[in-house]
Amino acid sequence: MTEHTRVLIVGSGPAGLTAAIYCARAQLNPIVIEGEPSSTTDQPGGQLMLTTDIENFPGFPEAISGPELMLNMRAQAQRFGADLRVNKVQRLDCSVRPFRAWLTDDLEPSITADAVILATGAQSLMMGVPGEDRLLSHGLSTCATCDGFFFRGHDIAVIGGGDSAIEEATFLTRFASSVTIVHRRDSLRASKIMQERAFASDKIRFAWNTQVTEVLGDEKVSGLAVRDTLTGESRVLEVTGVFVAIGHIPNTTLVSGQVEMAQNGYVRTGPGSFTNIDGLFAAGDVQDHVYRQAITSAGSGCIAAIDAERWLEAQGH
Ligand code: NAP
Repeated sequence: MTEHTRVLIVGSGPAGLTAAIYCARAQLNPIVIEGEPSSTTDQPGGQLMLTTDIENFPGFPEAISGPELMLNMRAQAQRFGADLRVNKVQRLDCSVRPFRAWLTDDLEPSITADAVILATGAQSLMMGVPGEDRLLSHGLSTCATCDGFFFRGHDIAVIGGGDSAIEEATFLTRFASSVTIVHRRDSLRASKIMQERAFASDKIRFAWNTQVTEVLGDEKVSGLAVRDTLTGESRVLEVTGVFVAIGHIPNTTLVSGQVEMAQNGYVRTGPGSFTNIDGLFAAGDVQDHVYRQAITSAGSGCIAAIDAERWLEAQGH
């Protein structure tokens, strides 16, 4: 049976849950479809579920762990009556009013909604080299928080030169014998404070100007084939763990071909969280390729909730 809601929120990272808190407090009784634990890169709670300490979320002077922050946001949304469901929107039709969302492959939509806030986030990019898919979860991971514990005493490589790579590498020093950051250039993109931490660690080494060509191993990672981008020389890094931290892509499948996207594939918003479809709002990493912080994501969830509330009021809902 199809149920109707004034606001459907898709996604349960900081953007979706902040939107849920605001919509619930505005008495809009939002339904939040949180996502399902399907992979390490796409799950309820979003990317913060895969993070260690968050030191820059205002209000937590001693830091807070990503999962704890998300559980707090969840509890806060529920306290005001948001209807949170661990489920996945399979299909979203934004061409008719009310919007239609399917959680199953039935003909009838599961939910119709006057307004939708899309907060589906982003997920990890992969290198696209041989061995990567096969060895994912067999020594290759995209989440140090989830899997670091299993690499006690291992020699590990972390791929990338941004904040994620440095954060993962620093975290992995708790378990690993050594961590080698494999970066395709000779300088890091990561913020200075994170760089300094990595440079200060006696467990972290750097393989500069180094491109991964293959992840080696039959059933488990046994090494990493790499090439020097300056000399072209190939060699094998002796590692038994590989963490890929090279950036993200927005989760836009649900609205692909329906909503206007920027050239880089992120949903185009503005002013505020308005998309080019009346009644469809977007918040968080699915529409932000610049800031991508927990706090900016939460802020944009708040913006989306207020935009949706005012839009609904203007529509006479
Ligand atoms: P990012 O800043 O886009 O960095 C991606 C890194 O991966 C870059 O160094 C890039 O190399 C490299 N790379 C990209 N594609 C590659 C490929 N195919 N093969 C090898 N290397 C590749 O992504 P991010 O580190 O995930 O960070 C995203 C955003 O989140 C940033 O704004 C960051 O500040 C923020 N963040 C903050 C924290 C924190 O504050 N605790 C933690 C994590 C992330 P090039 O440098 O050569 O382009």
